[in-house]
Order: sequence, then structure tokens, then C-alpha cells
Amino acid sequence: MYSEDDLLPISALQHLLFCERQCALIHIEQVWDENRFTAEGRVMHERVHEEGAASRGGVRIERGVALRSLRLGLTGKADTVEFHRAGEGPWRPYPVEYKRGKPKPDDSDKVQLCAQALCLEEMLGVEVPAGAVFYGQPRRRLDVAFGEKLRKTTEAAALKLHEMIAGGVTPPPCNDKRCRNCSLLDRCLPRAVRHSVDRYMGRVLADAEHPDEEKPQ
Ligand code: SF4
Repeated sequence: MYSEDDLLPISALQHLLFCERQCALIHIEQVWDENRFTAEGRVMHERVHEEGAASRGGVRIERGVALRSLRLGLTGKADTVEFHRAGEGPWRPYPVEYKRGKPKPDDSDKVQLCAQALCLEEMLGVEVPAGAVFYGQPRRRLDVAFGEKLRKTTEAAALKLHEMIAGGVTPPPCNDKRCRNCSLLDRCLPRAVRHSVDRYMGRVLADAEHPDEEKPQ
């Protein structure tokens, strides 16, 4: 169990799954550059949170719901939590996260949503079997089931996030196609840093293989 002081933002899981260096730059080095995409995303989340609670077709809708899990050491806010009820059964929370873009090739959106579900389960003591991500391009809602595999991936990501933040070390850049759309490209300098890291590692390996050779000064 983590204490209140150790809680990390759920949104950091998404950064971690996208690129570990991006996560470290934001959450260890406190670097953040807003670009058009991050600004649009931020405004969209703010609008959703401002809409307030509602009731529609037997579904209660809460917006901007505060979340916390001491088991995973996470805190954050759900854009929307719908409460569904079948007959006289219990109200089931159903988190819905809004994304301005399209579905990503990785699991980061699903992991972020699953982390919200795990927080709701811990806070409310009820099972949260599913939720949804609403994408803006094209506008569609993708249902997500919180199966065993996704739950394990989410728990492992939360643990890795805590280990990385506690270690305080920023990993080297991936320097691949992810960098093209990264808001931190200009601050990270992936190509230059990767080149330096590769040169350094080359020297370390050469030293290990030929320890007695004279080195140029
Ligand atoms: S520019 Fe590339 S390496 Fe740097 S943080 Fe972004 S995705 Fe990661």
C-alpha cells in the first residue's frame, strides 16, 4: 500500500507506455511543452468536466470524478463515470475517457482507462468490468473490457512508473517514429542524445574487450 504522499498521476501511465523517456522528462525533470494537440486535448477534457452531472435513460452520469488507489499508488480524474443498473442490482460504474484523436496502436488508452476502473473498484468496493474510450477522429466510442490481461498490464505499468520515478533516472531516447508526434521533440533531442549514448556505449564495450590498450587523450 502506498501513502497519500506517494500517489502518482494516472496520466503518467500513458506517457510511460508511449515512451519511457517522455514519462521521465515530464514526471522527473518536470519538462512539458504544450503543442496544438496537447492544447486541444486539454481544452476538450476541461469542457467535459464542466458539463456537470446528468441522468439519461436510466444512466447517471458524473463528470470530472476524483480517483485514487492506494494499492497502485495512483491518483487522477475520470472525464466521465456512467452508473448503469440492471434491474434491482447494484449501480455499476462505467468510466468513459475522451480522446481528441484516433485509437493508438499501443494499449496506453486502455491501460489509462483500466487504471481508472481499478481506482473505482478500490474506492467504491464494486466490480467495474468495462468502460469506454470516446475518440474524436472519427467520432466513435470504443468499449473496453477489463480482463485479467489488461488488469495485469496496468498493475505492472503502475509498479514500473513508481520504480522509475523513485530511481530518478531518465532513460535514453527511443529515436524512432514515435518522436515525430512527440510534444517534447525539441526538448528531448532524441537523435543527438542517442548518438552520444551510442558513442559512449561503444567506448565502454571497446574498453571492456581491450582493457590494456592505450587510449587517445
Ligand atoms: S522525442 Fe522521442 S525519445 Fe524523446 S521523449 Fe519524445 S518519443 Fe521519447
